Amino acid sequence: MENCIFCKIVAGEIPSPRLYEDEKMIVIRDIEPKAKLHYLCIPKTHFALLADMDEEKAETLKYCFRKIAEIHKELGLQDGYRVIINQGENGGQTVPHLHIHLLGGEVLGDF
Ligand code: AMP
Ligand code: ZN
Repeated sequence: MENCIFCKIVAGEIPSPRLYEDEKMIVIRDIEPKAKLHYLCIPKTHFALLADMDEEKAETLKYCFRKIAEIHKELGLQDGYRVIINQGENGGQTVPHLHIHLLGGEVLGDF
């Protein structure tokens, strides 16, 4: 997808160190961390909203969640973490490429 910052990161056009990468997803650090540890899990395929999900994208998201469960300790999230997916304007989504926020590394406040 042209002009999508996360597609550009996935493609390596914008440099961003990857803490994890496989054929379906990457994990990077959020550039403006909202917690001691703040990661973004970004599926490699572009779609903006959960509402845009088809079977294939649902499989990709399922894969991402299973992989997060598998690697969360390596990311320092062994004591617990928060998972957030912002959706659309009211949800505070600023990048229209679906991504999963992982926040932790400390006791998080209420939201
Ligand atoms: P959202 O507001 O849910 O769409 O989340 C977008 C997130 O992407 C924000 O938390 C930004 O801080 C983060 N972000 C934007 N550009 C970059 C970048 N180049 N590298 C890492 N994180 C980024
Ligand atoms: Zn994209």
